[in-house]
Amino acid sequence: MSKALPRQDSTIRIGIDLGGTKIESIALDATGNVVERRRVATPRNDYDATVHTVADLVAEVERSTGCTGTVGVGIPGTLSRATGLVKNANSTWLNGRPLDQDLSDALQRPVRLQNDANCFAVSEASDGAACGANVVFGVILGTGVGAGIVIGGRPIDGPNGIAGEWGHNPLPWPNDDERPGPACYCGLSGCIETYLSGPGLAAGYTRETGSDTTALALADASAAGNETARRHLDRYVDRLSRGLAHVINILDPDVIVLGGGLSNLNVLYERVPQHWSRYVFSDRVDTKLVPPRHGDSSGVRGAAWLWRPNEQ
Ligand SMILES: [Zn+2]
Repeated sequence: MSKALPRQDSTIRIGIDLGGTKIESIALDATGNVVERRRVATPRNDYDATVHTVADLVAEVERSTGCTGTVGVGIPGTLSRATGLVKNANSTWLNGRPLDQDLSDALQRPVRLQNDANCFAVSEASDGAACGANVVFGVILGTGVGAGIVIGGRPIDGPNGIAGEWGHNPLPWPNDDERPGPACYCGLSGCIETYLSGPGLAAGYTRETGSDTTALALADASAAGNETARRHLDRYVDRLSRGLAHVINILDPDVIVLGGGLSNLNVLYERVPQHWSRYVFSDRVDTKLVPPRHGDSSGVRGAAWLWRPNEQ
């Protein structure tokens, strides 16, 4: 990470990750070096204060660097193309609001807004683990399951603003004991998220044993020789393989990057590509499955990279 500030007259890319509990900002120079980083608490349930907090962060970044910047923002939701309003945000006070317009007005410049999973995929495709790949599927395996699709460096943004919302498709090639599957908050049952999120993995173990656990504790127990934990982890590998095989059959990405807490399970990168070939409709599978390069910073870096290198 460079500590050197860019020249006074140069331009920076400012990325904002607007989370439910904290708002992070990052400023990247033209080569992707971090020149500034900040973090403040999110004013929960207060839309106007959220807009002001983001605007203040941008102003502080520009004051301290002496540079003006492009601004990209990642949110835990999406912008409806039909209405121009935020939808599907679990930070519910953003829903129904024209957040990109209000931020543009506050900052006196165009602001790009994207779903946070899309920002993750943009980051890893721009200068991360999938750098140089044309078609990238970036998956978040955390408390929920989401994904973003990036082609040629740009996030795919369809008419419904939901490209990559793979977590609410049903788990493919279900076994008899996987039908209808656990109830999902979206109103359906057996969604991929109910199996492949961290809580989904832990819940399967808890249903069988009556003992509470977490996904990472379960992986540790498996590595330490716990037979029940190993069986649940094996089943997770098989389910993730099925889920990603479905994606490969449709999108055929060059690289799939995992993010979120479960991306720390190294066993996935070794075993899933061994396993998914039985489901993918191809004689061989050359798709790469890789861990993220930027880890937890990918969301905020991807927001900054919503403005491409030739767009300053
Ligand atoms: Zn669902």
